Amino acid sequence: MSHYLEQINLLRSLQKVDDEIHHIRNELEAAPKEVEDLRTRFEDTVLYRERQQDKTTHLIDQEKRLSTEIDDDAARIKKSKGKLMSVENAREYHAAVREMDSLERVNRNREEERNALTDELERQSSALAEIEAEYVVLEKKLAEAEAGLQARIAEAQDKLNVLLLKRRQAGSQVPSPVFARYEFIRERLEHPVIVPVTDGVCSGCHIAIPPQNFIELQKASQILSCPNCQRLTFWSEHFPGEKSSG
Ligand SMILES: [Zn+2]
Repeated sequence: MSHYLEQINLLRSLQKVDDEIHHIRNELEAAPKEVEDLRTRFEDTVLYRERQQDKTTHLIDQEKRLSTEIDDDAARIKKSKGKLMSVENAREYHAAVREMDSLERVNRNREEERNALTDELERQSSALAEIEAEYVVLEKKLAEAEAGLQARIAEAQDKLNVLLLKRRQAGSQVPSPVFARYEFIRERLEHPVIVPVTDGVCSGCHIAIPPQNFIELQKASQILSCPNCQRLTFWSEHFPGEKSSG
């Protein structure tokens, strides 16, 4: 293997370790955020559930109040009917009939109102049942996520420590000026540092490199950067049989 290809190979090995480190760092960042998102969702559900419980309780109270009023008036109507039997003249008779009519009309309105309330209560109760189910699922999920978070972080941290050792090893193999160039890019650009160029296209930025650069790259004489994204590049055909990644 030429000196050039050897260096590219060392850089690719280093990049592989950095890929894993990148992955673990993402995990370390994402784990607490996932739990936090879950907690926010759960808290929203708690509020929504409370509101829905209040709404349902209020409807039940209203329904009870209406039922009491309907029963009271039914008793009054019954009393008026009794009165009707004992009237002494037409004037008293008409007055008793009017009173009964008006009581009956009021009660019919109340019964309509109560029917509408019963329908609404049914709708709100089924909405509440749905929220209750969601609440139970989320509560369990959150408890599990919270309990597992520390273990998840500790596991990722252990992996990271191993990888950092591996990285020191891989980095020490790379000639120091080349390593310095790699580190310079790593600290300034988004992951990754070294990328294959396939069919003239840089897989770091997905833009075609100028033909002259591509020809130079194929000559395999010096490490070249992508003129667009500045990442280090190599020609994927120099490593046949490997799927290009980037
Ligand atoms: Zn590029």
